[in-house]
Amino acid sequence: MEYGSHVSDLLGVFRDRGALSRTDVSSLTGLSRSTVNGRLSALSGVGLITPIEGGASTGGRPSSRFEFRADRATVLCADIGATGFIAAVCDLGGNPLARIDRTIDVWEGPERVLPAVLEAFRELAVPTELWGIAIGVPGPVEFAARRVVNPPIMTGWDRFDMAEWAAEHYDVPLIVENDANARAVAEARVHRVDNVIGLKLGTGVGAGLVFNGQIIRGDKGAAGDIGHTRAAIVDDRPRDCRCGSFDCVEAYASGWALQRELTELGIPTSGVRDIVDLVARGDIETVRRVRAAGRVIGEAVADLVSILNPRTIALSGQLAECDEILMSGIRERVYQRAAPLVTRDLRIERSTLGASAGVTGLALIACDALLSSASLERILDAASRAV
Ligand SMILES: [Zn+2]
Repeated sequence: MEYGSHVSDLLGVFRDRGALSRTDVSSLTGLSRSTVNGRLSALSGVGLITPIEGGASTGGRPSSRFEFRADRATVLCADIGATGFIAAVCDLGGNPLARIDRTIDVWEGPERVLPAVLEAFRELAVPTELWGIAIGVPGPVEFAARRVVNPPIMTGWDRFDMAEWAAEHYDVPLIVENDANARAVAEARVHRVDNVIGLKLGTGVGAGLVFNGQIIRGDKGAAGDIGHTRAAIVDDRPRDCRCGSFDCVEAYASGWALQRELTELGIPTSGVRDIVDLVARGDIETVRRVRAAGRVIGEAVADLVSILNPRTIALSGQLAECDEILMSGIRERVYQRAAPLVTRDLRIERSTLGASAGVTGLALIACDALLSSASLERILDAASRAV
């Protein structure tokens, strides 16, 4: 990775690589020794990096390696799904320090859901300064405006002013991000992979795209919404989708569609959790349908793989807990349909981040903004004026 010359780039080197000596920083950034020293002292002065023991001594100067201080401040994150949310307080490295899970219905709208989020935030102990708030939502997000736009399912959230809501309660910046994007970022950063498709498989089906280290949002924030692309494997009878269209991938392969099918078969379920439990118990009808759902998802993902050439496809969300039963269909179709070159080193696997994938990604995205060149300059200016 190439680094720019701004002080935020220098901090970025530490965020990416862990503990480094002055010499490491000079050679990674191409900056002169004196520039590096000046910036290290400025960043130490605001507590964002700290000297650590164990560095090799050079030229009689004190031995010093430095590392990023993820514990300098915290971010409150809420990863809102269709039927629940996870609220967490995370450090600046994206690590969740404490977490609360709540059941909600996202269709009830922001007026009902956001107060529940606020209540959870207030229950979480914030151990250090709070620097930001990050909210993830299962719909398209206009990132700069921090709002949901034209969501296929989130009734009442369209263009709701979340920044105004946050400003009523907190005096720190807010970011709003699509839930699948946040998961893809977590996957890319935690596992240090540049090209990732993060599939969120729960009540709905979503994909987040992180390529060359950047989220691909598209013109309106709707990139990666594979759930409402046309399914490649369809019945004779069109299947209605909750977006108002029919024969979408979601209408065959999502948690809600599987629930609908199982209900028609006389197997009532109260949520995606029940589907996962039925699969774990080896219920033949459920296993058969989850396998078929995997193939429908695989067909949709195969096109993305051919077009974008990811290194990793990481599955998260409650339905992903069906594990191989779901994943075998996805693998089958992707390897059948995509060219050998794009599948040669491709990994299709379940996220190792579990239920914290969303909040981890949200915290990392918030920290990118909080430690961007403009924000960092404000932090350093304030510190220099205070001296
Ligand atoms: Zn649809």
